[in-house]
Amino acid sequence: PELPADLEAGPELVLTGGEVRHLGVMRLGAGDPLLVFDGRGREARAEVTALDGLRATLRLVEELPGTPETPQPVTLAVALLKGDKLADVVRAATELGVARIQLLVTQHADVRDIGANKLARLNRVAAEASKQSRRAVTPEVLPPVPLAALTWEGQAYVAHPYVHDLLSSHLHWDSPVTLLTGPEGGFSESEMEALLSRGAQGVVLGPRILRAETAPLALLGAIAATGV
Ligand code: SAM
Repeated sequence: PELPADLEAGPELVLTGGEVRHLGVMRLGAGDPLLVFDGRGREARAEVTALDGLRATLRLVEELPGTPETPQPVTLAVALLKGDKLADVVRAATELGVARIQLLVTQHADVRDIGANKLARLNRVAAEASKQSRRAVTPEVLPPVPLAALTWEGQAYVAHPYVHDLLSSHLHWDSPVTLLTGPEGGFSESEMEALLSRGAQGVVLGPRILRAETAPLALLGAIAATGV
C-alpha cells in the first residue's frame, strides 16, 4: 500500500480488498505485528488495530531501512515464452533482485503478443514474489517491445550459447545493467549482429543449452551469487 510521508506521526493505514484477504490467510488479528511495504522501496513495521472481512486498520510504528537493492538497477529483457513459463521467470527474477522485466518480441518467438490480463497477472506474480522474498521493491513487468526498439542505459549482456565471454569478466557496478535472453528458438544471427553492433556483450552460461526459462535465472543467479 501507499505509505504516508511521515511515519513519525504514528498514522493509521487502512487496507481493503486483496490485502485484507492476505491478512486473513496469515491468520493475523488485532494486536499482531506485521511488515508493510509500498513496492517502491519503503518498508515499515506496523500493528493491526482492527480487522474485519473487508477492511483492516494498521498503526504504523516505524520506518525500516528496507532490504538493500543491487548497486545499480538490473533490467531483465526476456523474449515472450509459451504457456505459463513467463510467470515462473517473473517470480524467480523478482526473488533474485531484478528491478524491471521488459518483455521482448523477437524473430524466432512463437508468441508475438501478450494480452492485458496476462500482463496484469505477471505484475501480480511480481508483487507476490516481492512479499515472499521480503523485498520492499516490486519490479514492473513492461509490455512487449520489438527487440529492435529496446533501448538501454549502461551495460547490456545478451545470453547466447555460441560465444565464449563470461558475465563475470565484464560486469561492473558503475552503470545500470540490462540482461537479454532469447525465446525457445534463440536469437537469430541478424538479431545477435544488431545487438552486438549496438554495444551489447554476448555471454555464455556454460557449454549446455539451457531452456529459455532457465537462462534468465542462470544470469541473475550469477549476479546474486556475488552477494549483491
Ligand atoms: N537453439 C537455440 C539457439 O541456437 O540459440 C537455443 C535457444 S535457448 C533454448 C533459449 C535462450 O536461452 C537463448 O536464446 C539464450 O539467450 C539462452 N541460452 C540457452 N543456453 C545458453 C547458454 N549455454 N549460454 C548462454 N545463453 C544460453
